[in-house]
Order: sequence, then structure tokens, then C-alpha cells
Amino acid sequence: MKITNKHQAPETLVALASREYYTKGAAQYSVTELLSPPRIRRLREQFHERVEQDVADMLWSMLGSALHVVMERGQTEGHITEERLFKEIDGVTISGQIDLQHERDGGVVITDYKFTSAWAVMADKPDWEQQLNVYRWLVETVKGNRVDALNICALIRDFSRHDTREGYPAAPIQMIPIPMWDLKETEDFVRRRLNAHRDAKVAHDFGDSLPECSPEERWQSETIYAVRREGRKTAIRVFKSIEEANELALKEKGYVETRPGEPKRCTGNYCGVADWCSQFQGERTT
Ligand code: SF4
Repeated sequence: MKITNKHQAPETLVALASREYYTKGAAQYSVTELLSPPRIRRLREQFHERVEQDVADMLWSMLGSALHVVMERGQTEGHITEERLFKEIDGVTISGQIDLQHERDGGVVITDYKFTSAWAVMADKPDWEQQLNVYRWLVETVKGNRVDALNICALIRDFSRHDTREGYPAAPIQMIPIPMWDLKETEDFVRRRLNAHRDAKVAHDFGDSLPECSPEERWQSETIYAVRREGRKTAIRVFKSIEEANELALKEKGYVETRPGEPKRCTGNYCGVADWCSQFQGERTT
């Protein structure tokens, strides 16, 4: 992967971005890779030499790495930080690095730090639930420790004290409890993910098409309908349903503007491989 510096950031930042912070050790899959869409993983592997990322777009991941370094300094009794666990399943080694394990009352509470947005904290995040449950499976099956609870510690980078929307986080640090799955279900889930990646690799190696990314994997946003009136700068109201929008537009003597949803991971190239992805490129030309 090439690191670019389009905004003339200091060289030290570029060096920092270029350094490999994250290692999956001897594992074939890190938990993050296992959970990522097979299409993205295969394309990243294929176009590794050509994938570019700018330092500016790596700010939050660099701060995430910095947090891990800082955490090492905050060693506290009964708290294990940054432990990497390895587990072999069906001949494949999976590894996961767990931010924090707090040993308490004979069990363990797992916490994962996330630099994230207020919006993400307010939305459903199934990937957080998956990741934490796979960590729990690692801790229970590798170390034999009972896990009592899972938490995300969200560090909200765009927190505003003035935002009073319902459900808006009360502070820039938010502890979010994550539901625990049955251990057997988690192992089945891990196997399904492994199979999905294996099938994609076989298909790719034989020149077959890759499985498509799902709307969730593409961060597909919903189409919304804004009711507007001539001469007014902002929308009167925004709806998810065209019927409701039409009804208000009639009442207000306005009109409805359709704002189509978009696959944000593709359009923003957050997967890094949008340029070589036939699924996304094919849609752009139709
Ligand atoms: S461009 Fe979109 S569909 Fe293609 S790999 Fe990236 S996220 Fe998936």
C-alpha cells in the first residue's frame, strides 16, 4: 500500500502512518479480517501494491494506535491490556488483540476502545457485537477464563455538549454494553465467516466472480425525501416515506426533492479498492 501526503503533513506523521502498527502475528486471519467482507479482502490482496491511502485519511487510525501505546502506561492491577490470542479452528489460525480484560469476581470483563462518531454510537453496530463476541470466544476457549460482560468504550471524536437530540451521548466517553452470544453460536459464526473467505479465495483463484458486498457491508444509506418550498433555503421536513413527503408538500404548496441513498463505503472508497471493484464500477456505468 502506498501512503500519500496530499496535504503536506509533517514527515514524522507520514513515517508514523507508514509503520506497521497492527500485526496479526502468525495467524492467517485477524478477527478484523475475518469479519470484513470477503470481496474487500480479496481485492485488497490482489491490488495491494496499487492501493493508496492519504495520511490525512489515516488520522483516526493513527490516534487509535497512539491510544494503544498510551494504554500500556496505564497498567492497573487486574487489568490485562493488549493481549493477542491465537486459536486454531478447522486448520486455520485466527488471532485477536484484546484491548482490555478486567479480571473481576473470578470472571473477565472485555472492553474494546473505539474512536468513533456520535452518530455511530446512536446507530446499531452489529460489527461491534460480532467482534466482541469473537473476542469472548477466544478468551474462553484459549485461556479457559469465564467472560462475564462485553463493553465498547466509545471515545466520541465529534461530541458536542450542545446537541440535545434524543439518544445523543451524555459525555465524550460512553460505555456501551454488548449482548453476549451463546459460545457454540459464536463458534458456528466463526466457521461461517471462514467458509465465506475460503469460498471467495477459491472463486478468485479460478477466475470466478467474487461474492458481492451486501448493502450493510457497503454502508448503504437510505433514500430520503425532503419537502421544500421555492424561496426557502432549507427543507421544511425530511421523510423516509415518499407518501408522507407528498402529503406535506401538498399542504405546504411545496415540492418533494428525492435524495437517493448511497453506498458510502464505495463512494468514499473507504474499502480502498473501489477503483477495481466490478460491483461498484458496474453500477456507475449503468
Ligand atoms: S467498492 Fe463497495 S462493493 Fe466494492 S469492495 Fe468496496 S465496499 Fe465492496
